[in-house]
Amino acid sequence: MSADIIDGKAFAEGLRTRLAAIVADFRAKAGRAPGLAVVLVGEDPASQVYVRSKGKATREAGMESFEYRLPATATQDEIVALVKKLNADDAVDGILVQLPLPAHVNEDLIIATIDPDKDVDGFHVVNVGRLSTGLHGYVPCTPLGCIMLLRDRLGDLSGLDAVIVGRSNIVGKPMAQLLLAENCTVTVAHSRTKNLRDVVRRADIVVAAVGRPEMIRGDWIKPGATVIDVGINRVPGAEPGKTKLVGDVAFAEAAEVAGAITPVPGGVGPMTIAVLLRNTVVAAHRRAGVPLAKGAI
Ligand code: NDP
Repeated sequence: MSADIIDGKAFAEGLRTRLAAIVADFRAKAGRAPGLAVVLVGEDPASQVYVRSKGKATREAGMESFEYRLPATATQDEIVALVKKLNADDAVDGILVQLPLPAHVNEDLIIATIDPDKDVDGFHVVNVGRLSTGLHGYVPCTPLGCIMLLRDRLGDLSGLDAVIVGRSNIVGKPMAQLLLAENCTVTVAHSRTKNLRDVVRRADIVVAAVGRPEMIRGDWIKPGATVIDVGINRVPGAEPGKTKLVGDVAFAEAAEVAGAITPVPGGVGPMTIAVLLRNTVVAAHRRAGVPLAKGAI
């Protein structure tokens, strides 16, 4: 293996430590803790795990965690009413509605109900618009985490060729906007892209957000490229009945060629929650009018 491993877990821990210090300072100045409200509808096991770990990380950073659990039978009107209540609650700086919502609920409508200035997930169209026009807003956590790792590894990204595989609203598209803002030349590939291998092979930066285990092979990677693997796929493990997590990139092969690569697990995954906390801390400072030093987080 020649590639350096980009240790997202260590980076995320460092970010969370910095955040805890900033939170302590905010508490002293504002007389309250930054607050994050998480809304979970239904009993989806993966969502329950995410919500639990978000609550734990929020409290560990010295912040206030408000958790709201509604049954899968909750009506759209009930969820809208809860979000409106949180919009009006001064102790709440950030609101996150855990997706996916049950099929009878219109996700777009629920996201549109969140106050854009509390939308720490960055999914509201106002924040999507702010991102694409270069205004201050909230940026989806996973792509912002990827940019932090890339800046840490590469410094100035200007002029680099970046290829993103995947065009979802939560990863691929915001990733493209962020890389464009870093002055990369950006290509967004998807399921209809022709000659994907050749497209990926041009890239100085590859961001894989596909959801297909180990689809991107070692011989797709340009020697020395930086590879950010967002994919989280559960596949059968070595022992019968056991599973393991793999990314969208064939790690062992790609690590022979790349200059640097994120592992799965331990790469992008830990960044998502750390950035959620970061966005909430930023929201708290903006809402309370407490200045936050530029570049502090
Ligand atoms: P989506 O399913 O929403 O999007 C997948 C994208 O991949 C689509 O744009 C799709 O193209 C494209 N795609 C699918 N098949 C191919 C193919 N054969 N060739 C090229 N492109 C293809 O996924 P998400 O963006 O939500 O997530 C992507 C991965 O990232 C998943 O593994 C997910 O678990 C993981 N993830 C990890 C997070 C983290 O915290 N680390 C957070 C969010 C996601 P098209 O648009 O044409 O259908």
